[in-house]
Amino acid sequence: MTESPHPLLPTATPVLRLDPRTLQVGGVDGRRGVRVQPAGADIARLLGGLDGRRPERAVRAEAVAEGVPGDLVDELLAGLRSGGLLHDLAAADLLATDPGPAATARAATELPAAASGPGSAGRWRARRQSAVVVEGATRVGAPLAAVLAASGVGRVHVRDRGATTAADTVVGGLSAADEGRPRGLAAADAVRRVNPLTDLRPLPADRAPDLVVLCRPWAATDPLQVSLHRDGVPHLIATVRGETGIVGPLVLPGTTSCLRCADAHRRDDDPAWPRLAAQLAATEPLPSGATVTCLLTAATAAVQVLAHLDGGAEPAVLEATLELRPPGLLPVLRRWPAHPGCPCGAAARTATRQSGHCGRE
Ligand SMILES: [Zn+2]
Repeated sequence: MTESPHPLLPTATPVLRLDPRTLQVGGVDGRRGVRVQPAGADIARLLGGLDGRRPERAVRAEAVAEGVPGDLVDELLAGLRSGGLLHDLAAADLLATDPGPAATARAATELPAAASGPGSAGRWRARRQSAVVVEGATRVGAPLAAVLAASGVGRVHVRDRGATTAADTVVGGLSAADEGRPRGLAAADAVRRVNPLTDLRPLPADRAPDLVVLCRPWAATDPLQVSLHRDGVPHLIATVRGETGIVGPLVLPGTTSCLRCADAHRRDDDPAWPRLAAQLAATEPLPSGATVTCLLTAATAAVQVLAHLDGGAEPAVLEATLELRPPGLLPVLRRWPAHPGCPCGAAARTATRQSGHCGRE
Protein backbone atom coordinates (compact mmCIF):
# COMPACT_ATOMS: atom_id res chain seq x y z
CA MET A 1 0.00 0.00 0.00
CA THR A 2 1.45 3.38 -0.92
CA GLU A 3 1.63 5.96 1.81
CA SER A 4 -0.80 8.87 1.56
CA PRO A 5 1.23 12.05 0.83
CA HIS A 6 1.27 14.88 3.35
CA PRO A 7 0.28 17.96 1.32
CA LEU A 8 2.12 21.17 2.16
CA LEU A 9 1.07 24.62 0.98
CA PRO A 10 4.09 26.72 2.06
CA THR A 11 3.17 29.40 4.56
CA ALA A 12 4.74 32.01 2.26
CA THR A 13 2.24 31.24 -0.53
CA PRO A 14 -0.25 34.12 -0.58
CA VAL A 15 -3.92 33.18 -0.22
CA LEU A 16 -5.78 36.33 -1.31
CA ARG A 17 -9.48 37.07 -1.41
CA LEU A 18 -10.79 38.46 -4.69
CA ASP A 19 -14.42 38.64 -3.62
CA PRO A 20 -16.66 36.95 -1.03
CA ARG A 21 -16.88 33.82 -3.23
CA THR A 22 -13.35 33.62 -4.65
CA LEU A 23 -9.87 32.98 -3.26
CA GLN A 24 -6.66 33.18 -5.26
CA VAL A 25 -3.80 30.93 -4.19
CA GLY A 26 -0.36 32.07 -5.38
CA GLY A 27 -0.04 33.68 -8.80
CA VAL A 28 1.99 36.70 -7.69
CA ASP A 29 5.47 35.44 -8.59
CA GLY A 30 5.22 35.19 -12.36
CA ARG A 31 3.48 31.81 -12.27
CA ARG A 32 -0.22 31.30 -12.67
CA GLY A 33 -2.12 31.04 -9.44
CA VAL A 34 -5.17 28.93 -8.74
CA ARG A 35 -8.56 30.60 -8.27
CA VAL A 36 -10.96 28.71 -6.05
CA GLN A 37 -14.70 29.29 -6.28
CA PRO A 38 -16.90 28.98 -4.33
CA ALA A 39 -14.51 29.58 -1.47
CA GLY A 40 -16.02 30.41 1.88
CA ALA A 41 -14.50 30.15 5.33
CA ASP A 42 -14.47 26.34 5.14
CA ILE A 43 -12.19 26.36 2.08
CA ALA A 44 -9.97 29.02 3.68
CA ARG A 45 -9.61 26.74 6.72
CA LEU A 46 -8.83 23.78 4.48
CA LEU A 47 -6.08 25.76 2.72
CA GLY A 48 -4.71 26.97 6.05
CA GLY A 49 -4.54 23.37 7.26
CA LEU A 50 -2.27 22.18 4.43
CA ASP A 51 0.77 22.36 6.69
CA GLY A 52 2.36 19.08 5.62
CA ARG A 53 1.75 17.49 9.01
CA ARG A 54 -1.26 15.35 8.11
CA PRO A 55 -1.79 12.74 5.42
CA GLU A 56 -4.07 13.69 2.56
CA ARG A 57 -6.77 11.29 3.64
CA ALA A 58 -6.96 13.01 7.08
CA VAL A 59 -7.12 16.45 5.43
CA ARG A 60 -9.94 15.20 3.19
CA ALA A 61 -11.86 13.57 6.05
CA GLU A 62 -11.73 16.75 8.15
CA ALA A 63 -12.94 18.91 5.27
CA VAL A 64 -15.77 16.49 4.52
CA ALA A 65 -16.75 16.54 8.21
CA GLU A 66 -16.99 20.35 7.88
CA GLY A 67 -19.38 19.95 4.96
CA VAL A 68 -17.01 20.38 2.00
CA PRO A 69 -17.87 17.79 -0.68
CA GLY A 70 -15.11 15.19 -1.05
CA ASP A 71 -14.82 15.61 -4.82
CA LEU A 72 -14.34 19.37 -4.32
CA VAL A 73 -11.44 18.67 -1.94
CA ASP A 74 -9.91 16.29 -4.48
CA GLU A 75 -10.34 18.83 -7.28
CA LEU A 76 -8.80 21.61 -5.20
CA LEU A 77 -5.75 19.56 -4.20
CA ALA A 78 -5.28 18.36 -7.79
CA GLY A 79 -5.48 21.95 -9.04
CA LEU A 80 -2.92 23.18 -6.51
CA ARG A 81 -0.67 20.24 -7.32
CA SER A 82 -0.79 20.75 -11.08
CA GLY A 83 -0.10 24.46 -10.52
CA GLY A 84 3.10 23.52 -8.67
CA LEU A 85 1.80 25.13 -5.48
CA LEU A 86 1.39 22.01 -3.38
CA HIS A 87 4.37 20.01 -2.14
CA ASP A 88 4.09 16.39 -1.12
CA LEU A 89 5.99 15.24 1.94
CA ALA A 90 6.41 11.75 3.33
CA ALA A 91 5.84 10.96 7.01
CA ALA A 92 9.58 10.35 7.23
CA ASP A 93 10.27 13.91 6.07
CA LEU A 94 8.40 15.28 9.08
CA LEU A 95 10.49 13.24 11.48
CA ALA A 96 13.72 14.33 9.81
CA THR A 97 13.71 17.89 11.14
CA ASP A 98 15.45 18.61 14.44
CA PRO A 99 13.03 19.15 17.32
CA GLY A 100 12.24 22.59 18.70
CA PRO A 101 10.58 25.75 17.42
CA ALA A 102 13.80 27.29 16.02
CA ALA A 103 14.64 24.20 13.93
CA THR A 104 11.03 24.03 12.75
CA ALA A 105 11.10 27.68 11.71
CA ARG A 106 14.37 27.19 9.81
CA ALA A 107 13.00 24.10 8.08
CA ALA A 108 9.83 25.95 7.05
CA THR A 109 11.86 28.21 4.77
CA GLU A 110 14.03 25.45 3.32
CA LEU A 111 11.65 22.55 2.95
CA PRO A 112 9.37 23.80 0.13
CA ALA A 113 12.26 24.05 -2.37
CA ALA A 114 13.53 20.61 -1.34
CA ALA A 115 10.05 19.17 -1.85
CA SER A 116 9.37 20.75 -5.25
CA GLY A 117 8.40 18.80 -8.33
CA PRO A 118 7.23 15.26 -8.91
CA GLY A 119 8.44 12.50 -6.59
CA SER A 120 9.37 14.96 -3.88
CA ALA A 121 8.27 12.84 -0.91
CA GLY A 122 11.32 11.66 1.02
CA ARG A 123 13.80 14.19 -0.42
CA TRP A 124 13.97 16.28 2.74
CA ARG A 125 14.72 13.18 4.77
CA ALA A 126 17.46 12.20 2.30
CA ARG A 127 19.02 15.64 2.66
CA ARG A 128 18.77 15.56 6.46
CA GLN A 129 20.49 12.17 6.61
CA SER A 130 23.30 13.15 4.24
CA ALA A 131 26.91 13.75 5.20
CA VAL A 132 29.10 16.08 3.15
CA VAL A 133 32.80 16.70 3.62
CA VAL A 134 34.15 20.03 2.41
CA GLU A 135 37.88 19.89 1.68
CA GLY A 136 39.29 23.36 2.19
CA ALA A 137 37.87 26.20 4.31
CA THR A 138 38.52 28.53 1.39
CA ARG A 139 36.61 31.63 0.30
CA VAL A 140 34.30 29.17 -1.49
CA GLY A 141 34.46 26.19 0.87
CA ALA A 142 33.52 27.95 4.12
CA PRO A 143 30.42 29.76 2.79
CA LEU A 144 29.46 26.61 0.88
CA ALA A 145 29.54 24.58 4.11
CA ALA A 146 27.33 27.21 5.75
CA VAL A 147 24.89 27.20 2.83
CA LEU A 148 24.61 23.41 2.93
CA ALA A 149 23.98 23.42 6.69
CA ALA A 150 21.41 26.19 6.34
CA SER A 151 19.75 24.19 3.57
CA GLY A 152 19.23 21.27 5.94
CA VAL A 153 22.12 18.91 5.16
CA GLY A 154 22.43 16.97 8.40
CA ARG A 155 26.17 16.56 8.64
CA VAL A 156 28.78 18.96 7.24
CA HIS A 157 32.44 18.51 8.10
CA VAL A 158 35.07 20.98 6.89
CA ARG A 159 38.66 19.77 6.64
CA ASP A 160 41.48 22.28 6.69
CA ARG A 161 44.74 22.38 8.60
CA GLY A 162 45.75 25.95 7.81
CA ALA A 163 45.41 29.13 9.82
CA THR A 164 43.01 31.92 8.90
CA THR A 165 44.49 34.97 7.21
CA ALA A 166 42.84 38.33 6.64
CA ALA A 167 42.39 37.41 2.95
CA ASP A 168 40.20 34.41 3.89
CA THR A 169 37.47 36.70 5.18
CA VAL A 170 34.28 36.37 3.16
CA VAL A 171 30.57 36.93 3.78
CA GLY A 172 29.06 33.77 5.24
CA GLY A 173 32.44 32.15 5.77
CA LEU A 174 35.49 33.01 7.86
CA SER A 175 35.36 36.39 9.57
CA ALA A 176 37.94 39.09 10.30
CA ALA A 177 37.80 38.03 13.96
CA ASP A 178 39.01 34.54 12.94
CA GLU A 179 42.43 35.75 11.78
CA GLY A 180 45.09 33.44 13.22
CA ARG A 181 42.61 30.73 14.26
CA PRO A 182 42.63 27.26 12.65
CA ARG A 183 40.57 27.54 9.46
CA GLY A 184 38.72 24.27 10.15
CA LEU A 185 37.43 25.55 13.50
CA ALA A 186 36.55 28.94 12.08
CA ALA A 187 34.58 27.26 9.28
CA ALA A 188 32.72 25.14 11.85
CA ASP A 189 31.73 28.37 13.60
CA ALA A 190 30.46 29.76 10.27
CA VAL A 191 28.26 26.67 9.94
CA ARG A 192 27.04 26.95 13.54
CA ARG A 193 26.04 30.56 13.01
CA VAL A 194 23.41 29.54 10.45
CA ASN A 195 22.41 26.15 11.86
CA PRO A 196 23.51 25.42 15.41
CA LEU A 197 22.27 21.82 15.30
CA THR A 198 24.28 20.68 12.28
CA ASP A 199 26.51 17.70 13.01
CA LEU A 200 30.04 19.00 12.41
CA ARG A 201 31.98 15.94 13.49
CA PRO A 202 34.34 14.06 11.20
CA LEU A 203 32.83 10.88 9.84
CA PRO A 204 33.70 7.58 11.51
CA ALA A 205 36.05 5.31 9.57
CA ASP A 206 33.24 2.95 8.60
CA ARG A 207 31.04 5.63 7.02
CA ALA A 208 31.84 7.16 3.66
CA PRO A 209 30.48 10.65 3.02
CA ASP A 210 27.69 11.02 0.48
CA LEU A 211 29.81 13.63 -1.24
CA VAL A 212 33.20 15.31 -0.89
CA VAL A 213 33.50 18.85 -2.24
CA LEU A 214 37.04 19.78 -3.26
CA CYS A 215 37.41 23.52 -2.73
CA ARG A 216 41.13 24.04 -3.25
CA PRO A 217 41.93 25.56 -6.63
CA TRP A 218 43.92 22.72 -8.21
CA ALA A 219 42.19 19.70 -6.76
CA ALA A 220 42.18 18.04 -10.20
CA THR A 221 45.81 17.14 -9.60
CA ASP A 222 45.35 16.46 -5.90
CA PRO A 223 46.31 12.94 -4.76
CA LEU A 224 43.15 13.11 -2.65
CA GLN A 225 40.95 12.71 -5.70
CA VAL A 226 42.75 9.46 -6.58
CA SER A 227 41.75 7.92 -3.25
CA LEU A 228 38.19 9.23 -3.55
CA HIS A 229 37.91 7.63 -6.96
CA ARG A 230 39.39 4.36 -5.72
CA ASP A 231 37.00 4.30 -2.76
CA GLY A 232 33.98 5.11 -4.93
CA VAL A 233 33.17 8.36 -3.11
CA PRO A 234 31.31 10.93 -5.25
CA HIS A 235 33.24 14.21 -5.43
CA LEU A 236 32.68 17.68 -6.81
CA ILE A 237 35.00 20.59 -7.60
CA ALA A 238 33.89 23.98 -6.29
CA THR A 239 36.61 26.59 -6.32
CA VAL A 240 37.97 29.81 -7.79
CA ARG A 241 40.97 29.52 -10.08
CA GLY A 242 42.52 32.92 -10.52
CA GLU A 243 39.37 34.99 -10.83
CA THR A 244 37.11 32.34 -12.38
CA GLY A 245 34.62 30.37 -10.34
CA ILE A 246 34.52 26.67 -11.27
CA VAL A 247 31.78 24.24 -10.26
CA GLY A 248 32.16 20.69 -11.50
CA PRO A 249 32.64 18.17 -12.65
CA LEU A 250 30.66 16.06 -10.21
CA VAL A 251 32.36 12.69 -10.41
CA LEU A 252 30.40 9.53 -9.70
CA PRO A 253 33.24 6.99 -9.69
CA GLY A 254 32.69 4.16 -12.10
CA THR A 255 29.87 5.99 -13.86
CA THR A 256 30.90 9.43 -15.12
CA SER A 257 34.09 10.98 -16.48
CA CYS A 258 36.63 11.79 -13.78
CA LEU A 259 39.09 14.55 -12.92
CA ARG A 260 41.88 12.65 -14.65
CA CYS A 261 39.74 12.56 -17.81
CA ALA A 262 39.52 16.37 -17.63
CA ASP A 263 43.27 16.59 -17.04
CA ALA A 264 43.92 14.35 -20.05
CA HIS A 265 41.84 16.65 -22.25
CA ARG A 266 43.90 19.61 -21.04
CA ARG A 267 47.08 17.68 -21.83
CA ASP A 268 45.77 16.99 -25.33
CA ASP A 269 45.22 20.72 -25.79
CA ASP A 270 48.65 21.59 -24.37
CA PRO A 271 51.36 18.95 -23.92
CA ALA A 272 53.05 21.23 -21.36
CA TRP A 273 50.00 21.08 -19.07
CA PRO A 274 51.32 18.35 -16.70
CA ARG A 275 54.41 20.46 -15.90
CA LEU A 276 52.27 23.52 -15.28
CA ALA A 277 49.76 21.59 -13.19
CA ALA A 278 52.47 20.08 -11.01
CA GLN A 279 53.74 23.57 -10.16
CA LEU A 280 50.24 24.84 -9.44
CA ALA A 281 49.57 21.99 -7.04
CA ALA A 282 52.97 22.14 -5.35
CA THR A 283 52.42 25.33 -3.40
CA GLU A 284 49.71 26.50 -1.00
CA PRO A 285 47.45 28.62 -3.20
CA LEU A 286 46.75 32.18 -2.16
CA PRO A 287 43.13 33.08 -1.38
CA SER A 288 41.55 34.39 -4.55
CA GLY A 289 38.27 35.51 -6.06
CA ALA A 290 36.16 38.57 -5.44
CA THR A 291 33.46 38.15 -2.83
CA VAL A 292 30.69 38.09 -5.45
CA THR A 293 32.57 35.43 -7.43
CA CYS A 294 33.16 33.28 -4.35
CA LEU A 295 29.58 33.52 -3.10
CA LEU A 296 28.07 32.84 -6.50
CA THR A 297 30.41 29.87 -6.90
CA ALA A 298 29.42 28.57 -3.46
CA ALA A 299 25.70 28.98 -4.19
CA THR A 300 26.05 27.37 -7.63
CA ALA A 301 27.91 24.46 -6.05
CA ALA A 302 25.27 24.13 -3.34
CA VAL A 303 22.56 23.72 -5.97
CA GLN A 304 24.53 20.86 -7.51
CA VAL A 305 25.25 19.26 -4.12
CA LEU A 306 21.58 19.37 -3.12
CA ALA A 307 20.51 17.94 -6.49
CA HIS A 308 22.89 15.04 -5.89
CA LEU A 309 21.80 14.45 -2.28
CA ASP A 310 18.06 14.90 -2.83
CA GLY A 311 17.96 12.64 -5.87
CA GLY A 312 15.54 14.93 -7.70
CA ALA A 313 16.78 16.76 -10.80
CA GLU A 314 20.00 15.43 -12.32
CA PRO A 315 22.95 17.68 -11.46
CA ALA A 316 24.02 19.87 -14.39
CA VAL A 317 27.73 19.26 -13.77
CA LEU A 318 27.94 15.54 -14.49
CA GLU A 319 30.76 15.38 -17.10
CA ALA A 320 30.63 19.19 -17.21
CA THR A 321 31.69 22.35 -15.41
CA LEU A 322 29.91 25.62 -14.82
CA GLU A 323 32.33 28.52 -15.12
CA LEU A 324 31.65 31.96 -13.63
CA ARG A 325 33.89 34.66 -15.02
CA PRO A 326 33.82 38.31 -13.92
CA PRO A 327 32.52 40.82 -14.57
CA GLY A 328 29.24 39.25 -15.79
CA LEU A 329 29.52 36.00 -13.81
CA LEU A 330 26.85 34.35 -15.94
CA PRO A 331 27.41 30.59 -15.73
CA VAL A 332 28.84 28.96 -18.85
CA LEU A 333 28.55 25.18 -19.21
CA ARG A 334 31.59 23.36 -20.54
CA ARG A 335 31.50 19.63 -21.28
CA TRP A 336 34.26 17.29 -20.12
CA PRO A 337 33.49 13.90 -21.63
CA ALA A 338 35.29 10.75 -20.60
CA HIS A 339 38.80 10.50 -22.07
CA PRO A 340 39.58 7.28 -23.96
CA GLY A 341 43.11 7.18 -22.48
CA CYS A 342 41.99 7.50 -18.85
CA PRO A 343 42.31 4.38 -16.72
CA CYS A 344 38.92 5.07 -15.11
CA GLY A 345 37.31 3.37 -18.12
CA ALA A 346 34.39 5.79 -18.30
CA ALA A 347 34.99 6.33 -22.04
CA ALA A 348 34.44 2.63 -22.79
CA ARG A 349 31.28 2.61 -20.70
CA THR A 350 30.05 5.75 -22.44
CA ALA A 351 30.64 4.12 -25.84
CA THR A 352 28.72 1.08 -24.67
CA ARG A 353 25.82 3.22 -23.56
CA GLN A 354 26.04 5.25 -26.78
CA SER A 355 24.92 8.21 -24.76
CA GLY A 356 25.73 10.63 -27.56
CA HIS A 357 28.39 12.88 -26.00
CA CYS A 358 30.13 14.57 -28.89
CA GLY A 359 32.96 16.51 -27.30
CA ARG A 360 33.60 19.64 -25.36
CA GLU A 361 31.98 22.90 -26.21
ZN1 LIG B 1 38.67 9.25 -16.15
